[in-house]
Amino acid sequence: MKNITILGATGTIGLNTLDVIQRHPQQFQVTALTANTDVDRLTELCQLWQPRYAVMADSQAAEQLHNRLKHSHPHIQILAGTEGLVQVASLPEVSIVMAAIVGSAGLLPTLAAAQSGKRVLLANKEALVMSGQLFMDAVTQHQAELLPIDSEHNAIFQCLPSCYERAGLATVGVNQIYLTASGGPFRNHDIEQLHEVTPDQACAHPKWKMGRKISVDSATMMNKGLEVIEACWLFATTPATIQVIIHPQSIIHSLVEYVDGSLLAQLSNPDMRTPIAHALAFPQRMEAGVKRLNLLEIAQLEFEAISLTRFPCLRLAYDAMSQGGTTTAILNAANEVAVQAFLDGQIRFTAIPQLIEKTLTHVTGRAATELQTILEDDQRARGFTAELVKSYGRDAGA
Ligand code: NAD
Ligand code: MG
Repeated sequence: MKNITILGATGTIGLNTLDVIQRHPQQFQVTALTANTDVDRLTELCQLWQPRYAVMADSQAAEQLHNRLKHSHPHIQILAGTEGLVQVASLPEVSIVMAAIVGSAGLLPTLAAAQSGKRVLLANKEALVMSGQLFMDAVTQHQAELLPIDSEHNAIFQCLPSCYERAGLATVGVNQIYLTASGGPFRNHDIEQLHEVTPDQACAHPKWKMGRKISVDSATMMNKGLEVIEACWLFATTPATIQVIIHPQSIIHSLVEYVDGSLLAQLSNPDMRTPIAHALAFPQRMEAGVKRLNLLEIAQLEFEAISLTRFPCLRLAYDAMSQGGTTTAILNAANEVAVQAFLDGQIRFTAIPQLIEKTLTHVTGRAATELQTILEDDQRARGFTAELVKSYGRDAGA
């Protein structure tokens, strides 16, 4: 029996993880569940899963959860804040941590899981984008096991030989990685009309059902940009090795090209339970509840080149990774603030890349060897982008 902590249990990835675990009650036990403010959802999950710990990042929400559960479930310990998240990510009895908090809030608990030598199932790409080398060093130093949940990275991982980590991609004969992108909801949208799109349109992804932040990232293609950076760290490679291509069906989740001309791909229906089950069971396989892929029904797989004019966020991410240091944390922070401002109706969709680019010009990066430096630059960038949001207003992004 393996004990698991699920960070971000009330989100799309968290709930999909519980769906997979529920199919294998003999193998996994839920030790801790966490959420930000959604007391109703976490109360339900606690009643259903009876974890030893439940954490609300928000302290008022933690108090509410405590009041709701103290009589019926006195054995569940309720914790609050980042300290609570870090604590349940590092519990000695826990061997697997699902890192599925969205955004920079996931950095400290995810890093704590790595520093405690856990099997870390990484969905929270922002944590790795922010802390890159520092995070990977923690994984090595504390002998953590890092398994990608992002469907593209999970696909690449499945297409690589197990010895790639020690040897490096070139040594195992890899030429190129193709990261596939569905193209999001605005792949064919009139580019002139993009400034008119609403948050609900941006969140209506054609293939995946996801949280609102990653849905907007998919619409701007910043999600793919963050994924390029994520892939560079996970697979110890450079942006030049990674090519993004549009594949509207979202059946091939990524491909690895070898020097002998072989191109290996991982295919499945677009359902996050496949990578989640893969990482939970690795190196074994287990049932995930996912509909089998019917090749005859799919019949056709298409590929298109990506336009950096339509999707400037992708260019910004490539540039930030090439600059290195805290620049990727600055990119991530500016993006988080801009996306939230768009979701709140404060700025237009087309203002998102503009705000990020301005932030990157004004807030300069430095070496990212200390966590403190990364957190400081994250805050500097947030402050700068927030000021831009105020001065921008809704119409400036047109
Ligand atoms: P979501 O918005 O559905 O869920 C986010 C979870 O994080 C919730 O449980 C929420 O309570 C928690 N959370 C939010 N803010 C927090 C804070 N400040 N402190 C503590 N907890 C907080 O998001 P999601 O779609 O499940 O995505 C989660 C992560 O997984 C993201 O980093 C995303 O990029 C990544 N990811 C998601 C998908 C997908 O298909 N949904 C695919 C690949 C990667
Ligand atoms: Mg992805």
